[in-house]
Amino acid sequence: MSVVSLTLTKQQIDVLKESLNKYNDIIPPQYANFKIAEPHLNITVYNSNKVVFQGHKAVEIAQKYMSKQIFPQAGSDETGNGSYFGPLCVAAVYIDDEIYEKIKHLKIDDSKATTDAYINEIAPYLREVVPHSLVVLDNTKYNQIQKSLNQNAMKAMLHNQVFLKLSEHVKMPALTVIDQFTPKQTYFNYLDANKPIYHDLKFETKAESKYLAVAAASIIARYAFNQALLQLSDHYGMSIPSGAGKTADEAARAFINRFGEDELKHVVKLHFANTKRLK
Ligand code: MN
Repeated sequence: MSVVSLTLTKQQIDVLKESLNKYNDIIPPQYANFKIAEPHLNITVYNSNKVVFQGHKAVEIAQKYMSKQIFPQAGSDETGNGSYFGPLCVAAVYIDDEIYEKIKHLKIDDSKATTDAYINEIAPYLREVVPHSLVVLDNTKYNQIQKSLNQNAMKAMLHNQVFLKLSEHVKMPALTVIDQFTPKQTYFNYLDANKPIYHDLKFETKAESKYLAVAAASIIARYAFNQALLQLSDHYGMSIPSGAGKTADEAARAFINRFGEDELKHVVKLHFANTKRLK
């Protein structure tokens, strides 16, 4: 076998191109954006993210990218934890072979690596066809709980919740992955007070680029977060941004001017440094 054709994620393509930078790329053919043509090593990256590997050296490289996705699988991810405004959203997703057939055309990637526009476009369909669970912790509750729990403890609580909820809908697979934000032991220490606890988890960092279920969970969580910011913007009649930089500071000042300092706890994560900067 000396030709392999794979559809890779954007992240994988970046890694691939990086690994090939010792070779000179040549002008790519139509509908392609990158091509290497060396003895036994011919690689073309198409705009559709399809990559054609020709020659035995190229096929050797391709093997590193051949999908080792095992179905059924489940996975979870969170979003909103780094944004001053808006909730903390955690989702868990289940994918088996049948479900994979319905979503493989979406070329799901980590939500951070895809645009919000694409997430908003595909998430409604994803939510329709993929068994999942979602928890959105609004700012009011977040600020209450944060008085006694740090953010990682809160995340652990929410991940545990989404796995328990998901397990009510589907038979949980042996391969159930959590995108690791804290070491396994710490995660379960955080959960000591929470009963029941979902135990059968594989902890992996950057899991969203390795497991489709985690990538899908990431998208569903991000979509919920985006929707929540839109709802807040709508409710207060002002633009509520994501992030924790200058734009967030400015929006928070404008918010206080219009609605008073006491209302802030309903829209931001008070323990962020942004709050101190407002004074
Ligand atoms: Mn994550």
